[in-house]
Amino acid sequence: MLRTLLYPKSVAVIGVSSNSKKIGHTIAKNILSHKFSGKVYLVNPSSKKILGKKVFSSVIDIPAKVDLAVISIPAAFTPRALEECGKKKIPYSIIISAGFSETGEEGRRLEEEILRISKKYSIGVLGPNCLGILNSENRLNASFARGMIRPGGIGFISQSGAICSAMLDWSHKNNLGFSKFISLGNTTALDEVDFMKYFENDPKTSVVLCYLEEIRSGKEFLESARLLAMKKPLIILKAGVTDEGKKAALSHTGSLAGDDTVVEAAFQEANIIRVRTLEDFFNMATIASCANSLKGNKIAVISNAGGPAVLTTDLVSQSFLQFAELKQETQKKLSNNLPKTANIKNPIDIVGDANAFRYETTLSSALTDTGVDACIVILTPQTVTEIDATAKVIIAASKKYKKSVVATFIGGKKALSGVTLLAKKNIPVYEFPNQAVAALSALYKYVSNKNKQKSMGSEQYKKIVVNTKEYNNFKNIFILLATHTLFQMSLKNSLEILKAYELPCVESFFAESAQDVEKINFEYPLAAKIDSQDVVHKSDINAVVVNIKNKDEARVAFASIQKNVFSRMPQAKVAGVVFQPMAAGFEVICGARRDPQFGPVVLAGIGGIYAEVFNDVSLRLAPVSRSDARELLSELHSYPILKGIRGKPSCDMESLVDIINKLSQIMIDFPEIMEIDLNPVMVGEAREGARIVDFRIVF
Ligand code: ADP
Ligand code: MG
Repeated sequence: MLRTLLYPKSVAVIGVSSNSKKIGHTIAKNILSHKFSGKVYLVNPSSKKILGKKVFSSVIDIPAKVDLAVISIPAAFTPRALEECGKKKIPYSIIISAGFSETGEEGRRLEEEILRISKKYSIGVLGPNCLGILNSENRLNASFARGMIRPGGIGFISQSGAICSAMLDWSHKNNLGFSKFISLGNTTALDEVDFMKYFENDPKTSVVLCYLEEIRSGKEFLESARLLAMKKPLIILKAGVTDEGKKAALSHTGSLAGDDTVVEAAFQEANIIRVRTLEDFFNMATIASCANSLKGNKIAVISNAGGPAVLTTDLVSQSFLQFAELKQETQKKLSNNLPKTANIKNPIDIVGDANAFRYETTLSSALTDTGVDACIVILTPQTVTEIDATAKVIIAASKKYKKSVVATFIGGKKALSGVTLLAKKNIPVYEFPNQAVAALSALYKYVSNKNKQKSMGSEQYKKIVVNTKEYNNFKNIFILLATHTLFQMSLKNSLEILKAYELPCVESFFAESAQDVEKINFEYPLAAKIDSQDVVHKSDINAVVVNIKNKDEARVAFASIQKNVFSRMPQAKVAGVVFQPMAAGFEVICGARRDPQFGPVVLAGIGGIYAEVFNDVSLRLAPVSRSDARELLSELHSYPILKGIRGKPSCDMESLVDIINKLSQIMIDFPEIMEIDLNPVMVGEAREGARIVDFRIVF
């Protein structure tokens, strides 16, 4: 698939113009002037000859087979042109023209028309409203971007035409090479998923760079991203991250699992290298080709200046990288070759008067050390520094030792010639140490996750089945309570569902009247709280009382809770007051939310009424296996507390693992459920289990 689009044997340009200022002219000129290997036909009903070539009045008149039509005419005429492409049996079309859904109602209607015609004739349509495509292998520039891309390993996909232009320009300055360059436009038919699938198996592409604003189908996107990332680095800059979901949330979980947090978790699962700024996008682009030579995170830093070496040391300590412990033999080699003032321990300071030869011997010693996985070479232009010769030494060493070598040439005018030499040979080179460390660290994270995925063979997800009768009962509850907006179930109804999955909810006694309070026969102390579908945060309106020591206090609690709710929220529908034994333990939140793009996600973290303040949570997309759950917990900042510090014993981790695993299953079993909030879950010491004291289901 898509091969014919990218490697057409013949291309028709519909809307070619004799006016050199028109896009239709530029496109024709681009296709004709870069030694494209296929045939080119020009189409325009009102011209006979343009750019020295015969012009056809319609694609229908072209006396040969056409693989690709590039359309650049006013939007209103595109449906007719596409119809003609269909009749001519042209398999692919790029619609460059703008004026579609991005402009309003009329444009949206036109775009629907395009989609309908593309389906009718099975034409693979790229665009509309895009820059076009470039392929460095067959030298096809079917776009209105100036110049040709340099050949290289990057497959580039972008939902923004402006980012395409910027990337092209930047790549010329920085000598970056591309296999294919794709501007997606409005993604009416072909979208990022189609191209990710293509790039997965494209031998010319070793890295995929992707700029996205919108992900239409989360599941499909993740599946193809995951498969692609197993083979080559996939770097995505995702813009337009809003937190719409957060606004509508009816629980702690809802507001903690905001849209961007879910994107983060989803990208992490697919091992996508996520960047957040254009700067990082470009920085990652220059290093990604090193993915194959990077085997570990032990680095050596070589510098001709102390300051930058110290700076780099600080940066490394905050990254996924580590300094390699240099072997005795390496240190001996270094001390034989370096002046006395040099520092032969990592970071290796080869001092200010280092010439290219000194860089060469040091690089060779470091890269032959089996404990060194990669090298960061820092150069500052000093009086005797041989900038170009050092660049050449770095190029030769990286080729010879087949290890990643990242250059940092700090400076401007003087350093520039060396930087250009390095970039031309695809050696990642940066102006500042923080860029080098961040890029190498992100790449290492990718490489190590990729290997982990391979070795783990991921534990199977065990399905917990709730019995059919119960299942149908719950379905009926949902039907009965069904509303069009988010609706939280009462504690009583929530409890029924959770109990069916044997989730460890604390015993609860529902008192509807003052007489009911007399029937409580739990051991004191107790907690009491309001049960109302309208109250989201009970303690906010003083509707929770803890440490109730006796019946008298229980009576008072019942009355005061009713009174507080009535005065603060007179409209609230109250089901009653719930009494529970006081549970002890560390307060954890476990929850789930249905994300509109990625489906159910499950989270866990620091719980209690301050959950949002600490914001220490970790997420996974469902299904979440027990081993996924363990990993999720280990990512929390507060994990050491759960594991027990300062002489405290570890919490009962497995009870949390069990809860997370079951939440994932409930979300899968009941698509009606939008959010589940278990907050807090009181976790006791090992084997003491956990008690869920507050639970809420939103659907
Ligand atoms: P909400 O979160 O709606 O304010 P909760 O039921 O979570 O209401 O109660 C608020 C806080 O009171 C909890 O975070 C917990 O610290 C404490 N609490 C509530 N119920 C119990 C209980 N059964 N045992 C121990 N502490 C409780
Ligand atoms: Mg709570």
